[in-house]
This record gives sequence, C-alpha cells and structure tokens, in this order.
Amino acid sequence: MAYTNTVLTRARARLRQDNERKRAEYEDHLGKAYALRPRLREIDRALRSTTARAAALLFQHDTDRTAELARLREENQKLQDERQWILDEAELPDGYLDDSPVCTLCSGTGYIGSRMCECLQELCRQEQKRELASLLPTGRERFDNFSMEVYPERFYPELGMSARTLMQKNLNYCKKYAMEFQPGARSLLFSGATGLGKTFLSACIARQVAEGGHSVVYATAGKLFSDYEAVKFERAEPESLRDYRDCDLLIIDDLGTEMTTEFVKAALYEIVNSRLLERKTTVISTNLNEQDLEERYGGQIASRLQGSYRVLYFLGDDIRRLRKIKQNEERTARV
Ligand SMILES: [Zn+2]
Repeated sequence: MAYTNTVLTRARARLRQDNERKRAEYEDHLGKAYALRPRLREIDRALRSTTARAAALLFQHDTDRTAELARLREENQKLQDERQWILDEAELPDGYLDDSPVCTLCSGTGYIGSRMCECLQELCRQEQKRELASLLPTGRERFDNFSMEVYPERFYPELGMSARTLMQKNLNYCKKYAMEFQPGARSLLFSGATGLGKTFLSACIARQVAEGGHSVVYATAGKLFSDYEAVKFERAEPESLRDYRDCDLLIIDDLGTEMTTEFVKAALYEIVNSRLLERKTTVISTNLNEQDLEERYGGQIASRLQGSYRVLYFLGDDIRRLRKIKQNEERTARV
C-alpha cells in the first residue's frame, strides 16, 4: 500500500500531534494530581530512584546483588501500592495518570520495524479521503448515483445496441474495475462529448479505489500541466510533482480543454510513458476522439494511448462517433 508524499506527510503530522496532545494531557493531569496529593510527587521521585538503583546494580558483577535487588523490588512494590491507594482515595478517574503512548503497538512512532503500523495506516486512509474530497467536483460521485437518463434508448444499427446499453456496459465495467483495482491495473481512456458523465464516472473510480486503500490523485488536465509548468519555470520545486508520479492511480480529467503547447505535449508524453513503464495506472477522460488526439498531441502519444489503454466510449446522441466505434470494434475483433 503506497500513499503519496502529501498524504503521508499529513498523516505523520497528525500522529505527531496526537502524541503531543496525549503527552500534554498527561503532564496536566500529573500536575493536578500532585497539587491534590503532594505525597504523590515524593512517591514518584522515590520510584524513579529505586528503578535507577536497580539498573545500576545490574552492572556490578563483583558483589552478590540478589539480596539488594530483592530489597529494592520490595521497596518499589510498597511505593506502588501506596501510590495506588492514594489515587483510589482521591477518586481520580480510571486512566487519569495513564502515560502510555497513543498507540501501544508502535509506541506512537507509526512503524513497527519497517512496516507501517495500523494507527498510521488509518490516518493515511483518512487523509487520502479528505484530499480526494477536496479535489472531486461535487462530492456525490458514487456509482449508485450515476444517472442513465441522458443516454438515448434508441437502437443504433451501427452500434448494434442503444447508447444506454453501451453506457450500462461502461458503468458495470468501471464498477468492477474500481472494486477489484490493484496497482498496475490496465489504464483507461474515456472518450466522449462533454456532459456524458466521464468526469462523474472517473471520480466514482477515484473514490472507490481510494477506499480500497490505494493512493489516488485526481487532477484536471489544466491543473496538471500548470503544475508541470510551474516546475519548469522554477516557480515550484520538482518535489511538488512527486504525487503525480508515485500514486497508484492518476486520474487526468478533461484532456484537450487545456491550451495545448509544445510543452504540454512533451509533459503529457512524459507522464503517459513513464507511468506505463513503471506499471502505474492512469485514467484519462477526454472529449477528443482518436483522430483528434493524434492531431493535437502527435502520433507517438496517440499510439501509446490506443495501444496500452482500454478505450471506453461515452455516447449520447452523437452519431458521428458511432462509425468510428464500429470500425474500432471490428479492428479489435480481428486482432
Ligand atoms: Zn501504531
């Protein structure tokens, strides 16, 4: 399970704050308990002293330590009993002087050896959810909220089905895809006119995949390229692009609506190519068809997308696209 740098940094910061809060609460309670029963402070001091003397004894090899250790143990037990008696008598709530760390599994460090502890994983999941919620367009993006109404039920002979049936197939596919997502899953290209649910469906995938514990970054093409440009013109650190490279699933929405410069073409090629090489999954939505993609971004990118991405067509009343799809299906059937 890989989280992006942004999510991990925030999750670690929260764990640190939780530790500090717990520590501060303990100090506060201890101060109040000492004020209430000053004898407690003396007992704690004495307990520290017996512990230190016992530790020192362990390094003395020349004398018989057994008797002295037993005596210290007894002294320690007496002090602890008295401490407990005072706490009970003062009627302090249970756990009032609990000084254990926020997580006992990892002592509040977030790691057990090199493995991430469940406590930090949970914080990562929460931060990933929060991060996506701030990026996704409406907050309603769930497969169950997907409406079929904009897709005509009319049968298209060219397609062999209605646009609605085609869309139902797309929806089923995306749902299964998101539920079963594993890093390295095949990349997708959503192609279709504006207003046909591409953004909504890609956001549904983002949410579901993130809930499955994978790192997801969602960005419009405009935002993505302006972030790359900021690095190129040294307005931002290269580090700021790390999430786009590292995430398990990158969703690029609305490709083709940005101002397409030579720089944008190069950046897109870099993103598409490097993610393919590193077996990282990308979902791109665009209102361009294959021909437009080739004209705008060049043959290299178009062939990368067509060769390695699964293309899903989004169709409304847009008859122009039908022939293209038909041709494509025939081509796929032949392969
Ligand atoms: Zn932990």
